[in-house]
Amino acid sequence: MNDTHMLHRGRSAKIIATLGPASRSPDMIAALYEAGADVFRLNFSHGSHDDHAQSVATIRALEKTVGQPITILMDLQGPKLRVGTFKDGSAVLQQGAAFRLDLDKAPGDAVRANLPHPEIFAALKPGASLLVDDGHLRLLVKKCGKDFAETEVIIGGVISDRKGVNVPDVTLPIPAMTPKDKADLEFGLSQGVDWVALSFVQRPEDVAEVRAAVAGRAGVLSKLEKPAALDQLDAIVALSDSVMVARGDLGVEMPLEQVPVLQKRIVRSCRKQGKPVVVATQMLDSMIKSPVPTRAEASDVATAIYDGVDAVMLSAETAAGMFPERSVATMHRIICQVESDPFYLDLMTAGHLAPEHSSPAAITVAARQIAHTLNAAAIVTFTSSGSTTLRAAQERPDVPILCITPSINAGRRLGLVWGVRALVGDFIHSVDDIGDVAVRAAQRCGIGKDGQALVITAGMPFGKVGSTNMVRVVWIGGETKAG
Ligand code: PEP
Repeated sequence: MNDTHMLHRGRSAKIIATLGPASRSPDMIAALYEAGADVFRLNFSHGSHDDHAQSVATIRALEKTVGQPITILMDLQGPKLRVGTFKDGSAVLQQGAAFRLDLDKAPGDAVRANLPHPEIFAALKPGASLLVDDGHLRLLVKKCGKDFAETEVIIGGVISDRKGVNVPDVTLPIPAMTPKDKADLEFGLSQGVDWVALSFVQRPEDVAEVRAAVAGRAGVLSKLEKPAALDQLDAIVALSDSVMVARGDLGVEMPLEQVPVLQKRIVRSCRKQGKPVVVATQMLDSMIKSPVPTRAEASDVATAIYDGVDAVMLSAETAAGMFPERSVATMHRIICQVESDPFYLDLMTAGHLAPEHSSPAAITVAARQIAHTLNAAAIVTFTSSGSTTLRAAQERPDVPILCITPSINAGRRLGLVWGVRALVGDFIHSVDDIGDVAVRAAQRCGIGKDGQALVITAGMPFGKVGSTNMVRVVWIGGETKAG
């Protein structure tokens, strides 16, 4: 890799830090940013609108201080299914025992409980499994009707009030967004979030529904955690602006040994379609309580980076853990170490697919090759929607990608994307300015030295989405030395 590969953080892959009680204070948000958080995730399964509004205000104030766009991702809770309540708050289910679920709101016991979701009963079939409390309990459906299911307890244990239920074998006829999600979405968009993550996506129509509601005001990120979604993976990726391998629920809905295989499959599909992909959950889980991660966790983060993901995510580590800042710093160090491995780019780009037959794709591939051949200091992309920059990132070049955009929204959204640093401002007044602006931007970022090339890509006329149609080489410090 080019020795000028010194981006904002000295790395290309990005870090998402989830905010929560351990990290919502302005001081901690600033500390997480300093430690390496590129994207802040607001988890709408927890926290009040006031909490999230305060976080947004803090991040936007920090953004002004640091003079760099900062990305905010809101994560909708989605249709999380739960059992009702129990007479004593909980009950013990014995392996092999019969257990009934029904619509009766009366508190449950060791024989029956309320499951207030008629849509589950409507879709269940004998032989389906119900997983309770993150899969700690497993129930096998023996008989069912429109308002009940008779089950056998396959894995027993304690079941308690409002525990979550997963139904992996069935595509549930439930809408992508609950009334809570709809209210949260409008609230988040009014706050100016950059990305909206949709939980429990089952089918492409779910993504389409959320896209319609978001209406271009943010990027739409699909969280893949349901087996049904994997049956239509490519179609879901195609409709999404980004995708997350949500390994928490994925590991409940699918046998654990399938999670690494599915992670690779999802990452491959996203890289093929040029969609930013995030790997999430339990990446440094032991750091919730410990100042150092396990070796296996360090290796897990490294594996995702070698696979070329755009971002890796911290959840409880930063939201509720004892060492939020240290968790981000640790992740940052692991990423930097992997990216400085001489084999990193080769491994990450192995299996890179031939570009599609389009002029924007061909130009972007050419830009990557020119940058490599000339040992350029950077690829500089001019974009208003972000699409020219996204294309450049898709090629995983061995030089930094500088994005110059008049749109703060595009700049913020690109914070999630591999290798991209965005500069936001009204820099361009005529196409003739493009070379000078690129050189000044690189100098401002401390990228490159006199005599080094910058490879510029842009779509002209400016402002037309997906119209990348120009590549040009300029030289820092004046005219070409290499001709
Ligand atoms: C997951 O399930 O891995 C995930 C990221 O979603 P959540 O944290 O909302 O459960």
